[in-house]
Amino acid sequence: MQQVLVVPFVLVPLFVVQPLGDPACTCEADKLKNGWCGKCKVGYVAAVAIKSGVLFEALDAHGHRIDVNSMKCELCRKALASDGFCTRCNWGFIDQQLYHSKLTYSLAKGKAKVFSSIKCARCRKNTLKPGWCDSCNVGMVGNVAFEDKKMFEQASREHRKLLAAVEIARRCEICAVALITDAKCPSCKKTYKDGKEVIKLPP
Ligand SMILES: [Zn+2]
Ligand SMILES: [Zn+2]
Ligand SMILES: [Zn+2]
Ligand SMILES: [Zn+2]
Repeated sequence: MQQVLVVPFVLVPLFVVQPLGDPACTCEADKLKNGWCGKCKVGYVAAVAIKSGVLFEALDAHGHRIDVNSMKCELCRKALASDGFCTRCNWGFIDQQLYHSKLTYSLAKGKAKVFSSIKCARCRKNTLKPGWCDSCNVGMVGNVAFEDKKMFEQASREHRKLLAAVEIARRCEICAVALITDAKCPSCKKTYKDGKEVIKLPP
């Protein structure tokens, strides 16, 4: 006799705990871990709200595990050993993790804070606009705290680019990505360098 597979479909609803298509809001946690809230359809990098999924994905604000043996670039190997940045590849390394841009590398050098945990008034103000607090010896870039002034200044510069990219994404998401990565938007034919559009003057 042939075996007949009976699908116990009547039991299936018992295992569906969460109704599909209705995720919970994870915004608060996402501000700390540069995550995406599926409910609000917004992502966060240094607590900057990013509504463009394309831009958020391109920012890729996480460390990645690396296969050290496959790394060909000598500067990358040096950077890996010193938690540094390879300017040739635009890759940064922290704790053996790879960061794909100067922005995400710089931010990962700081420490993301819960806003309510910041007690100092000056530091709280600095979360609105990057600034250095002399009494705490801490610089804030969004919700990310820095004790190293040089790294703070670098992160502030990258943060300005991020704000510009968020603004541009309302017009063209590809331009926003191009601005972050020093590249060209093929549809708008605009080229970006150091967070600005490169204007070519007619000869
Ligand atoms: Zn949310
Ligand atoms: Zn490299
Ligand atoms: Zn302070
Ligand atoms: Zn464009």
